[in-house]
Amino acid sequence: MTVRLRFAPSPTGPLHIGGARTAIYNWAAARAQGGTFLLRIEDTDRERSTAASLQMILEGLRWVGLRWDEGPEAGGEHGPYFQSERLDRYAATAQQLLDAGAAYRCYATPEEVEEGRRALQERGERPMYDRRHRDLTDAQCAEFEAAGRRASLRFRMPLDERVVLPDLCKGDVEVHTAELDDWVMVRADGMPTYNFACVVDDLAMQISHVVRGEEHLMNGVKQMLLYRALSAEPPRFGHIPLILGPSGKKLSKRDAQTNILDYRDRGFPPEALFNYISTLGWGFSGDRDVFSADEMVERFTVEGIGKAGAKFDEQKMMAICGQYVRATPIDELVRRVRPFCEAAGAVPAAAFDAHPDLVANAVACYQERIDIYGELPAKIAWVFTDDLTMDDAAAKNLRKYEAAGAWLAAVADRLEAADLPPSYPDDRGDADRACRLPSSDGSPAAGSTPFANTADLEQVTRQLADELGAKFGHLVHPIRAALTGTNKGPGLFDVMFLLGKQRCLRRLRAHAS
Ligand code: GLU
Repeated sequence: MTVRLRFAPSPTGPLHIGGARTAIYNWAAARAQGGTFLLRIEDTDRERSTAASLQMILEGLRWVGLRWDEGPEAGGEHGPYFQSERLDRYAATAQQLLDAGAAYRCYATPEEVEEGRRALQERGERPMYDRRHRDLTDAQCAEFEAAGRRASLRFRMPLDERVVLPDLCKGDVEVHTAELDDWVMVRADGMPTYNFACVVDDLAMQISHVVRGEEHLMNGVKQMLLYRALSAEPPRFGHIPLILGPSGKKLSKRDAQTNILDYRDRGFPPEALFNYISTLGWGFSGDRDVFSADEMVERFTVEGIGKAGAKFDEQKMMAICGQYVRATPIDELVRRVRPFCEAAGAVPAAAFDAHPDLVANAVACYQERIDIYGELPAKIAWVFTDDLTMDDAAAKNLRKYEAAGAWLAAVADRLEAADLPPSYPDDRGDADRACRLPSSDGSPAAGSTPFANTADLEQVTRQLADELGAKFGHLVHPIRAALTGTNKGPGLFDVMFLLGKQRCLRRLRAHAS
């Protein structure tokens, strides 16, 4: 069997977490079996479909790392891949079903349909289309036509049959056809409905497996019956459980951001989001929740998707993001955080090109301290400006010790006098100096220079504390506050090392007395 799976979004809004998960599972199932993954745009709802939504969906898919073999922009042998461009195909199949008696014309107005539904309900029966035009004669049809009515096309549902949909995720799903409507296949305006167009296209595009949300389970049954009416083999269906919010109900916008592009804009690592979304209903193996797309493909099966709804857990998502951030080589991490730092004005754009080592060092200091790129600008801004905003904790640390002003003056004098040349190219223009944070044994990494290393800085500061008769643990608080404007962040000597001599002196003296 040729394995072909599709993702078939309607361009009526952005790509959501649930849609992304469906796309990922279809993609992974196709890749796992050496098959084809295609994208089909279900845009028959002309009022709600927009070009902007389509762009957001394509961007969202690309951002999480999905590529499609056939579809918009990729082309392919089974196009067009927009349903709005396939209307002639639906019309041909509709005629075929009409000729075979598997579909019939219904002239009922929406009001009449509603009236019939209400009447059934009042009799205690299932409220649905009351099948009033199921058996119209040609003459009756002609009368309606003459009266100017336009027919919709309805599926002639078997009235009394037990049918079984073999579902890859849910097992056998048994339904009695009495529960199912004579559903509309083509509206009076000639537009096909979802269930009809979907089957025509899945057949034409030779789709072998349909993996989608469980809200489509009953559609699966209707579609299966339509395949039968067309004497065609249905694809294998897999209806995947809902994604749940913290309350146990379907994940909604109130529970979490659901638009994929919002995560991009907040600076989530796309591989991490791909990874986390994949775990919502599928497990890599018992003890691992971090895995690459390639690793997923090696193991993925539709049957392996869980039966219970998966809970969206923001904390877990952040933890996975953090693991990706920590595993990213520093130069790559710099490349990824750059747009966020520049947009926030936290790092001058020129610094990335003029002082790459300083930027790399600064980013390295936060690699363990952020989960997403978007968290970095606010944390890192102090490195690049002497114009610090003191947060409350830092301001308190400056006031806490009576001698703080004198201490800061003494530290500045000592750093100035000590033979610890500047560590990075600041305003003195020594742009060629390489500067990497010292390795953990305190020795400078290859090519690093001045403020020779953090161990020297520590030694000088400890010695000074002794001389001042101050506790070292006390001294560090006002120093950190003066240098960074906060009481959090990297180790104090990493801070000094990053800033280099001139900036350290300026900032210490700004609070010295
Ligand atoms: N356009 C449908 C949706 O977005 C596709 C469902 C399907 O995969 O058949 O829900």
